[in-house]
Amino acid sequence: MAQTALPRRAVSIEDPWPNAQRQFDAAADLLDLDHGVRALLREAQRQLVVDFPVRMDDSSIRMFTGYRVQHNLVPGPTKGGIRYHPQVTLNEIKALAMWMTWKCAIAGLPFGGAKGGVVVNPKLLSPGELERLTRRYAAEISVLIGPERDIPAPDVNTTPAVMAWIMDTISMAEGYSVPATVTGKPLAVGGSRGRVEAPGRGAATVARRICARLGRDPRQLSVAVQGFGNVGSTAARLMEEDGFRILAISDTGGAIVSETPLAVREVIAHKQRTGSVAGFPGTRSVAGDAVLEAPIDVLVPAALENQITAGNAGRIRASLILEAANGPITPAADDILNRRGITVVPDIVASAGGVTVSYFEWVQDLQSFFWEEKEINARLEGVMSSAFDAAWSAAQRLRVPLRLGAYAVAVQRVADATLARGIYP
Ligand code: NAD
Repeated sequence: MAQTALPRRAVSIEDPWPNAQRQFDAAADLLDLDHGVRALLREAQRQLVVDFPVRMDDSSIRMFTGYRVQHNLVPGPTKGGIRYHPQVTLNEIKALAMWMTWKCAIAGLPFGGAKGGVVVNPKLLSPGELERLTRRYAAEISVLIGPERDIPAPDVNTTPAVMAWIMDTISMAEGYSVPATVTGKPLAVGGSRGRVEAPGRGAATVARRICARLGRDPRQLSVAVQGFGNVGSTAARLMEEDGFRILAISDTGGAIVSETPLAVREVIAHKQRTGSVAGFPGTRSVAGDAVLEAPIDVLVPAALENQITAGNAGRIRASLILEAANGPITPAADDILNRRGITVVPDIVASAGGVTVSYFEWVQDLQSFFWEEKEINARLEGVMSSAFDAAWSAAQRLRVPLRLGAYAVAVQRVADATLARGIYP
């Protein structure tokens, strides 16, 4: 199937890489980081660009571009998802890889950060084309990935099935099964219980935690969720179970607002049937951006980067923002939100649930010993709570916003590891 019109991505054209570096610089300034270590940590260590052919269903050959970036290999093997999206760029992947380094550090996971992506709209490919694209991309980046080196996982538009193809491709080359090569796999091939839900569950855990710290009762708080894929739908469902009142939801197909709390499981079923939250009975349709600016208490961006910018930060009405997506708020917007007294739980904390259970999956695969879901969820809650508490304590101690508090902890940990290892040779 040929790729025709690409869907528009409703994001600003801001480049996430200088934004990620700017966030790092703020922490480096605060920590008065050694100049050499600062220079080292603000760059991506390895960047692989691959241009590769895929045989399409009509027998034609199409070229695709993919990336795999390892931001920092000091703490251990690198870890990070793979994104399929028509607007993926190398700089976006570099930013996402850097954010993974800080996310793993604040969560106390023994990984450096990585990320991968392919410039493609997978919704315009047939299942066979998607599988062949995935297998060829996996083969191209096999020079970097592996259980001891760099372990990919799902991200936007990639699924457990895509992870299974990557695992199978690497295993075929090795001549034996290597399940620990990738996480977020189906259970049948060494996946972990609780992995699909983990990013949303982690965000919901952090939501409970911040409400307890701020002395706010979830049952009194209304919520808007932007993005209703894996992360957004799970976060909404679990937050609803915790008593939050979900009043607005958006995805690329549309946005809905309700006067009374939405039954999130029914919205999920509606999206499964129709492909979008749009048209859910009993709701009002609004423009996608209206969800960000809705008159609610808690905003959960769970879509893509650069959603809250200097352009709309002044119109946000939530008093609490939970960054379930990676990089949804630009540094310029962050400044405005901070000035306005809006509390932001940063992505490196609020969206650490996925990589945490990915870590558990990797450990289970290496040991060939699998845990019960109850144990996984309990351990996830422990990691998320420690990450949040570390960020909270640092923010209080240093009198800075939560993002800077979280960055101070994370950057210090990676800087300490760098100095402990020394500069080779
Ligand atoms: P997904 O592909 O399952 O879902 C993305 C959702 O966002 C879809 O519902 C899509 O319609 C919606 N969307 C995209 N652009 C939008 C826009 N402008 N307005 C409204 N909705 C929009 O992806 P996901 O895995 O849920 O990832 C979402 C975010 O969470 C990304 O930032 C990703 O990097 C991050 N994240 C994912 C994981 C994971 O394990 N999947 C872990 C941590 C963080």
